[in-house]
Amino acid sequence: MNCCVCGAGPDNASIHIKTPGFRLVRCRDCGMVYRPESPVSETDPYGKEYFTDRNEYLGRRDEFHAAFEELVGKIRRRKGGGHLLDVGTGIGTLMEVASEKGFRVSGVEYSPWASNFARTEKGLNVFTGTLEEAGFPGETFDVVVLNHVLEHLDQPRETLREVRRILKRDGVLVVGVQNIESIMARLLGAGWYSIKPGEHIWHFSPATLSRLVREAGFEVIEKESRENNLPSGWFAKKYLQMAINAVAVLTNRSEAMLLFARIDPRSDA
Ligand SMILES: [Zn+2]
Repeated sequence: MNCCVCGAGPDNASIHIKTPGFRLVRCRDCGMVYRPESPVSETDPYGKEYFTDRNEYLGRRDEFHAAFEELVGKIRRRKGGGHLLDVGTGIGTLMEVASEKGFRVSGVEYSPWASNFARTEKGLNVFTGTLEEAGFPGETFDVVVLNHVLEHLDQPRETLREVRRILKRDGVLVVGVQNIESIMARLLGAGWYSIKPGEHIWHFSPATLSRLVREAGFEVIEKESRENNLPSGWFAKKYLQMAINAVAVLTNRSEAMLLFARIDPRSDA
């Protein structure tokens, strides 16, 4: 696997994290942190268990609902309505919230189980597969959201190019990812919950995220450092986490980043 930002190979990278059976490297050219090898897995990592056993998307539905209300509120300040596409919609919670707030909503979800749940239990319009497979017509959407999705994709730059094609010329791109340069990531190293070797290929920083988005043909409008949507896996240490988060927000080194971008017309050529 080569660096998704600058294309340099893993031979041009240094070790960032190494544990038995797993490593992350940091690209010497651009600073991107990534997993150079694909882990061997017998089963689909995004099957039913992904959405149920971890007791997150279903069991913590109300918490997600509240977090997404805040996110949709931020989107509405930049685009008041229209057709919103949620890429990697899971069981469709963000779509539900956006719909309640007046958007027409569509979704794409790789997991057959989750997309089927969103369609049958919630009546949402969700395509099963990748964004590229969905093959939407050009300039279809007013807003495209990739919330905690880019880090999972084999080719995030190509997916962002596809987003650019299907976004209206005055549309808004919304990207949420974790921040590998956050205080929490530095403190916890390989134990940081977002490392997830089986799922996360790419670990963005503010600089590498902006560069990837720009090179895919967008102009960054705004970027904010924010607490991770939901503290997880840290039950006993929740208050320590809250204290660190407070410092992290003040110093722009929170666990998550939210980026808004629009199409850069100069990159049409
Ligand atoms: Zn690079």
